[in-house]
Amino acid sequence: MTIRKGSCLCGQVKYSFYADQIDAVSCYCRDCQRVTGSPLTTVVAVSADTLNTEGLTRTFSNRSASNRDVTRHFCPNCGSQLFTEAEMVPGVKFVKCSTLDEPSAAVTTANFWLSSAAKWAPIDKEIACFDENPDG
Ligand SMILES: [Zn+2]
Ligand SMILES: [Zn+2]
Repeated sequence: MTIRKGSCLCGQVKYSFYADQIDAVSCYCRDCQRVTGSPLTTVVAVSADTLNTEGLTRTFSNRSASNRDVTRHFCPNCGSQLFTEAEMVPGVKFVKCSTLDEPSAAVTTANFWLSSAAKWAPIDKEIACFDENPDG
């Protein structure tokens, strides 16, 4: 298995996990847009007990567009968004692929929440596309 590493902008928070393939999904929901300042967020699901982290994060929790609790972890020093935990998917941390040391290692397989994508957002229409979350 290949070790995958990443960090926040200032380097205070680092993480690693093992994965040969990084299957990622992109989310265009309003919360992901606001929290990242980007038109989409691309994440990979990593089993929470196999994600090694170094350095403390701060968290912010709210209710998602599908009315479930979502907790986002960010670096308290530089503000980089790193991991998300969702009530809907227990035991998993969604790692933001743009914080990987090698972001291109990720392969996107689906787009979520295209119903709230900005008109100017880049959208890969070659992969599975969902207006909201696939299971509603
Ligand atoms: Zn930082
Ligand atoms: Zn989202």
